[in-house]
Amino acid sequence: MVNKPVSYPVMEKLIALSRRRGFLFQSSEIYDGINAVYDYGPMGVELKRNIKDLWWRDMITSREDILGMDTAILMHPRVWEASGHVTNFHDPMVECKKCKRRYRQDNLPEGQETCPGCGGALTEPRQFDLMFRTKLGSTAEGALDIYLRPETAQGIFVNFSNIVSSSRVKLPFGIGQLGKAFRNEITTGNFIFRTREFEQMEMEYFIRPGENAEWLDYWSKERLKWYRSLGIREEKLRLRQHAEDELAHYSTACYDVEYAFPYGYSEIEGIADRGTYDLQQHIDHSRKKLQYVDQENRGEKIVPAVIETSAGVDRTLLAVMTDAFWEDEANDRIVMRFSPRVAPFKVAVFPTFQKSRDAEVARKLYEELRPHFAAFYDDGGSIGKRYRRQDEIGRRSA
Ligand code: ATP
Repeated sequence: MVNKPVSYPVMEKLIALSRRRGFLFQSSEIYDGINAVYDYGPMGVELKRNIKDLWWRDMITSREDILGMDTAILMHPRVWEASGHVTNFHDPMVECKKCKRRYRQDNLPEGQETCPGCGGALTEPRQFDLMFRTKLGSTAEGALDIYLRPETAQGIFVNFSNIVSSSRVKLPFGIGQLGKAFRNEITTGNFIFRTREFEQMEMEYFIRPGENAEWLDYWSKERLKWYRSLGIREEKLRLRQHAEDELAHYSTACYDVEYAFPYGYSEIEGIADRGTYDLQQHIDHSRKKLQYVDQENRGEKIVPAVIETSAGVDRTLLAVMTDAFWEDEANDRIVMRFSPRVAPFKVAVFPTFQKSRDAEVARKLYEELRPHFAAFYDDGGSIGKRYRRQDEIGRRSA
């Protein structure tokens, strides 16, 4: 959705808090930073791990029908030819001739010919390649041009037969993975909403062709529920069906889970009916038989259809943080009202005084808690200041 070059007061405050309390820092900040790349600090990394662990538990380990994988970021370049990314993974970019700001043409109102920032004229659209290229091996030995993966899903499709032959799976079944993806986005901004390096939590659910509509419906509802389970307010979430002209090249139907960010409803996860597109493309390009032998149907060989759930870790984290953000104006403080399921630290221990019997007991309690909970000990400054610090990292007072 939108990525307007406008600042939003709540986002500005959230960005300042993230830095002040160690959630997120601009990457390579001491060298003036690198655009749309971020580092997670001590608070951010705990929050991010909690989100990833919950996804893994809820989507993989707690389900009999879904298995996990962890495939490599670097893949054979032919994977991206087969998947359609080499031909289709471009965005139409327009640039302002005056202020040089860049926009994705499909994010501007139809027919807009002037820059929303300064009113200058826009260039004709050009196709902008979203995949990062790199070289495998040294030039001397004839290096191979390869890509950093722009999604984790293809690692699953190319391993389809490995999973089928090694894991005795029966349709319907899913394969999920969680990992880094890279996109050389034209427009960035809105903090970590659209970055160039990010993490995805993707699951490909293989089904008998023809059962697509019912599984798309099932997964759209399941995934929406999952965001509520992270403590995100129900009224801030919605499912939106893609219009026909919005569908990606592989997809015949798609729902987005959207969160009401300060800059408008925007996608945090896509649930797509990919049909048999990916497996069929890899069959055609690799000439390998990526098929499933259906024992329940007299050994019929079929190419399963796929329903994909594709979520962004960083966007989920941004939705969780935006939703938890609360300004207590009466007391001039910010409170991050995280659900205890995702909160970076679960318990904080404060002795009333430093170097007292009280402090010894508090320290002992902290040591006992630490192996079981992400716990935090603080004996510096007034109790009021210590509480304020905890408010901003999301401690729940009990
Ligand atoms: P958009 O239209 O916002 O660019 P998309 O439809 O291209 O997103 P998908 O290809 O469906 O995104 O990717 C699945 C998920 O991966 C998204 O819902 C989002 O959570 C995450 N994601 C995609 N691109 C980025 C990015 N540049 N930065 C952060 N997360 C991303």
